[in-house]
Amino acid sequence: MVAEKQVAVEAVLKAAQLCQQVQSDMVRTDSMEKADRSPVTVADFGSQALICQAIGDAFPADVIVGEEDSQALRENASLLKRVTDYVNRFAEAASAQTVCDWIDRGAGEVGSRFWTLDPIDGTKGFLRRAQYAIALALIIDGEVKLGVLGCPNLPQKLDDPQAERGCLFVAVRGEGVHMLSLDEEVSEHIRAAESQLRFAESFESSHGDLDAHVKIARQLGITEPPIRMDSQVKYGLVARGDASVYIRLPNPASPDYRECIWDHAAGMIVVEEAGGKVTDAEGRSLDWMQGRRMTANRGIVATNGELHPRVLENIRN
Ligand code: AMP
Ligand code: MG
Repeated sequence: MVAEKQVAVEAVLKAAQLCQQVQSDMVRTDSMEKADRSPVTVADFGSQALICQAIGDAFPADVIVGEEDSQALRENASLLKRVTDYVNRFAEAASAQTVCDWIDRGAGEVGSRFWTLDPIDGTKGFLRRAQYAIALALIIDGEVKLGVLGCPNLPQKLDDPQAERGCLFVAVRGEGVHMLSLDEEVSEHIRAAESQLRFAESFESSHGDLDAHVKIARQLGITEPPIRMDSQVKYGLVARGDASVYIRLPNPASPDYRECIWDHAAGMIVVEEAGGKVTDAEGRSLDWMQGRRMTANRGIVATNGELHPRVLENIRN
């Protein structure tokens, strides 16, 4: 796993740089959700191109299941040019065609060994200049073995407004999890906290059942308001002890919604390797082998481990 870890870390860091560059080039009005969404589209494609290029070059036989494909891009010359220009700032010189081919390395199917990639998880958070993540995981025989979660806007210390922003969570099965700064200068082993009574949930109210979340939290004795953030940074919060629970119950308006594997695989191993636990809302293990959507699971519960049985019991009631 040493080579895989190194390639994955370098690729996610490079993609994070591209995302940060796109975000800093984004004019102020772009940050409004109604306005131009194209910066996040550019960053999404650019991030997937860089990561698929790196994985594909290092491990040519490996399958990648990525969120994006290049079809829309191939039909939009000006968008493709923007994506290609950004990719060329962070990778070897590549033509527009090559960039599309790199993106399409992500068209693989779930199998005995595959990577899963969300090039930008939390696109709305990206547009708000709030939280988003670049999430990459390696799954072998149905088990997540490696997870790398790049969180360019996450403060290294949540409650310190002066804290530097930018965290990289790196988890290897059986070896624990580290949180690094994006320049890799700082690296610390992290553990989920036993005592912290705060909970995390999606910023987007349509992605969960906020009324139920708060009831469950209250039954656990949590009186602090939730930490609401976009993307898999929430798993990072549980892993490093800022929150003891991340609850994601299906929204009553979309009860048939099924989670995507790239939205959870990297985050899950980050929490588990910090000593926490992750299941679906009914206590089932997450099943990575059903395809792009997790059709065997409903909702997500991630905890510090200790609270897990009580959370599941409260959900049942
Ligand atoms: P988060 O910011 O944690 O809510 O995660 C963002 C992810 O939520 C996106 O990547 C979507 O794949 C996913 N999503 C979209 N619609 C829903 C929904 N109705 N319920 C749960 N998740 C959703
Ligand atoms: Mg996502």
